[in-house]
Amino acid sequence: MKIGVIGTGYVGLVTAVGLADMGHRVLGTDIVAEKIDKASQGICHIYEPGLEELLKKNLKNGNLSFHHNLDETIIASDVLFVCVNTPQREDGSADMSYVEGVSRRIAENLNSYKLVVEKSTVPVKTSMWIKKVLTLYKKNDTSFDVASNPEFLREGSAVYDFLNPDRIIIGVETERAKDILIRIYDKFRDRILVTNIDTAELIKHASNSFLATKISFINLISELCEKTEADVELVAKGMGLDPRIGPHFLRAGLGYGGSCFPKDVRALTRIGEDLGVDFSLLKEVDRINTRCIRVFVEKVKKALWILKDKKIAVLGLSFKPETDDIRNAPSIHVIEELQREGAHLCLYDPKAMDKMKRLFPEKSPQVIYSSSPYEAVQGANAMLIVTEWHEFKELNLEKVKKSMANPIIIDGRNLYNPEKARELGFEYYSIGRK
Ligand code: NAD
Repeated sequence: MKIGVIGTGYVGLVTAVGLADMGHRVLGTDIVAEKIDKASQGICHIYEPGLEELLKKNLKNGNLSFHHNLDETIIASDVLFVCVNTPQREDGSADMSYVEGVSRRIAENLNSYKLVVEKSTVPVKTSMWIKKVLTLYKKNDTSFDVASNPEFLREGSAVYDFLNPDRIIIGVETERAKDILIRIYDKFRDRILVTNIDTAELIKHASNSFLATKISFINLISELCEKTEADVELVAKGMGLDPRIGPHFLRAGLGYGGSCFPKDVRALTRIGEDLGVDFSLLKEVDRINTRCIRVFVEKVKKALWILKDKKIAVLGLSFKPETDDIRNAPSIHVIEELQREGAHLCLYDPKAMDKMKRLFPEKSPQVIYSSSPYEAVQGANAMLIVTEWHEFKELNLEKVKKSMANPIIIDGRNLYNPEKARELGFEYYSIGRK
């Protein structure tokens, strides 16, 4: 059985490498030639821990190959995992034009039975449309099935997540499709949940929206903590000890970002509206998330009063640690707000600076990229923690203090102990803690 993976972005590349590492014969393809050229040479176009090693291994053992030609990849494959982007449209709904485009190409190249698997995050009922496109555009009476197999990997630990999934959701409507997917994921047989396709599609949107809700909930609680003597870290700890709630996704901070949560929350809201179900709950989740940035920038102003011409070190640009992904990163909104105020920014991130430079080109003294956190804080009037990279937790704060113009930290991720930071002589602000 040959598996074609269409779209080798964050999800597709990990899927291709992961399936190959599970022993399958995998062909990856993408419209961006550079991604295919790099992958063919064993080079990842994204930073994801452990991915490049596995890519090289599976290219070498012949399980994995990459191809520029989509049509040839379709023709050569028995199963097609569709991993293309489903970005947000202006009205909040998911842009399904990439999925539609790929579906048409599959239809036009349907030379033998194929199982078309939606791995991209798609609105419920997408499979119905894919089936319609395949039926309308296929040139012969070759049969096919459509299935849903949403991806739950987390960027930053994507390889581990793919190879150690907590669940494999398989949405199918035929025994044949079910058997094929169970064979592909045979290794994880004990973790497979088989559902109909609508259910599988909805599990993904519901999961991401629920996790985003947890984050916004604790951020709302953090605002209340700041108005009282409560400490949000301990409130979260106390809540998380209840197994019905659990400790995860209860970290107050600058809110969620990335390519999934913001768009998936809005997409589910739109799906609800289209189908006559009121999702005001998720609109509020989104609003609270946006407010986190404003609240954070207000803290910077509270600490520095006037931001014009102040030198501010911004540590952390990726939307979360261990990735170079800056899509919808909170840092982007923080930088935009600070730029509006006329601040001079020294930016640093262990992996995401190249991508950020395309968005905010270097222009001294307004925007400078530093080669280390210590360089970024030199002469700074304040240091902001925007992404919780481990490297920042391990900073030598005494050394930091010595090189700053003013020892002020505004910690958007609650990385440091407030008492210790103050003992070291910092004026220290964090989220939901005194
Ligand atoms: P991405 O933008 O990194 O990757 C999508 C890839 O598809 C790109 O490389 C693009 O060039 C390619 N592509 C687009 N049209 C194509 C075509 N016609 N033929 C071949 N390739 C084509 O996006 P991503 O982060 O990998 O996300 C992909 C999907 O998976 C989205 O629906 C997303 O919501 C979902 N998802 C993402 C994550 C995540 O953490 N990034 C996790 C789970 C699910």
